Amino acid sequence: MTTTADSGGSARIRAVPSIPAPARPATTVPAPAPAPGLSCPQCDAALAGEYGYVRWCTACEWNIDGGVNAAAASTTRFEALYRRVSTRSARQLMDEVCTPAGLRPRRDGAAWLAIALAIPVHLLCLALVAGAAWLIFGVRSPVSYIGAAILLGAAFLGRPRLEHPAADGIHLRRADAPVLFGVCDRVSATTGAPQVEIVTIVEDFNAYSGRVGLRRRANVTIGARWWAGVGNDSRLATLGHEFGHFSNGDWTHQVIVSSALNTLEEWYHAFGDGLAAGGLAGVVESAASRVVRLVTGNWFWLIYVSLARVGQRAEYMADAMAAAVAGSDAEVQAEQDMLGAGSVDTSIATSVAATLRTHPRHVPDELLGVWAAVAERAARTPASELERRLRASKRSQTRVDDSHPPTWMRIQAVRSRPKQDPAVRVSDAEWTAIEHELAAPMRAMERHVFDETR
Ligand SMILES: [Zn+2]
Ligand SMILES: [Zn+2]
Repeated sequence: MTTTADSGGSARIRAVPSIPAPARPATTVPAPAPAPGLSCPQCDAALAGEYGYVRWCTACEWNIDGGVNAAAASTTRFEALYRRVSTRSARQLMDEVCTPAGLRPRRDGAAWLAIALAIPVHLLCLALVAGAAWLIFGVRSPVSYIGAAILLGAAFLGRPRLEHPAADGIHLRRADAPVLFGVCDRVSATTGAPQVEIVTIVEDFNAYSGRVGLRRRANVTIGARWWAGVGNDSRLATLGHEFGHFSNGDWTHQVIVSSALNTLEEWYHAFGDGLAAGGLAGVVESAASRVVRLVTGNWFWLIYVSLARVGQRAEYMADAMAAAVAGSDAEVQAEQDMLGAGSVDTSIATSVAATLRTHPRHVPDELLGVWAAVAERAARTPASELERRLRASKRSQTRVDDSHPPTWMRIQAVRSRPKQDPAVRVSDAEWTAIEHELAAPMRAMERHVFDETR
């Protein structure tokens, strides 16, 4: 999954558009070298962090993010302003959703702006077809036919498209996983969502949902990297969150906006990359592709940013659904698990390297060990590491185009409401059955991750 546009739904963790954001301030600075000793180089306090985890200072938060997500000190006025606006906007939204009345779908100005920006994209697509028809039937010259072909090509690329289940995923129907679908039905009933028709397993540290195909069938996608590293409570909360998106009537699910984003993305990549012709043609072409990039790229980001706040509100509402389904504690646990993406990568890398030392050539399926390593590391994560991730989340930079609110704000929003008990109960026997049902697709993803990492 790359964008909110092509997933047609909402990612639980993060949606990353394939078009780089214009003028986005740099967010990564080199990490300070870890101290050879065990005391903080800044304040001399004892460092926290066990062997194999980031060493950091609980007193002054030295190396709090292990250098991965450090926000650079503001260098320009624009960057400082951008940060202030982003942070203020995120806090405003959090304060709003912490009140009972604030947790409702709302079509605010930003939602209407996204629609208003999306409509011209579709009109432009129609205009391309009309232009091509005029060139073919009105002008009728060899050059005009070439022009018409280009216009038709652009219109074809930009045509509104239906969402489909992830192409690289494994798709399960009711008969493939009856127990999982049974649990999903209970979650649907609790959240007021439609019954799911396809559950897709992909490789990512992610989960998302949406409607697919002409029949708009409900599709929930579960990432194996995510599923493998979390407990059953988090898994149930994840299902609650994803089904919550269906019943919230999210604007991100609205075809008109998501297909406009898709169209702009197609044009940006098809005509913005250029065809590398030589000579004068090349000069003209590179100038033209620069213009296409400038227009489609900025247009895309205008829609994306106006959609972000709507999307963030939808995330808070889906979180509330998750808390209703799995209980507040499970939802908070799921949020905390989300902060462990880096740890999942580490356990995959170390486990693959260790397996290759004993089995340099062929590794049989049962010895892959990737998911076992992910689960094992997740289960023994020390408390100091959990604390570090949460504090790092508070320090990481908030952006106006973030598709999801910062994790610590999501946790705070759940905790601000009265504690809820789980409305859906899944027995141990059911979880065991689900594990059997998912064994084959999880194994396939394990092989994929292994081969990709080796
Ligand atoms: Zn979500
Ligand atoms: Zn310190």
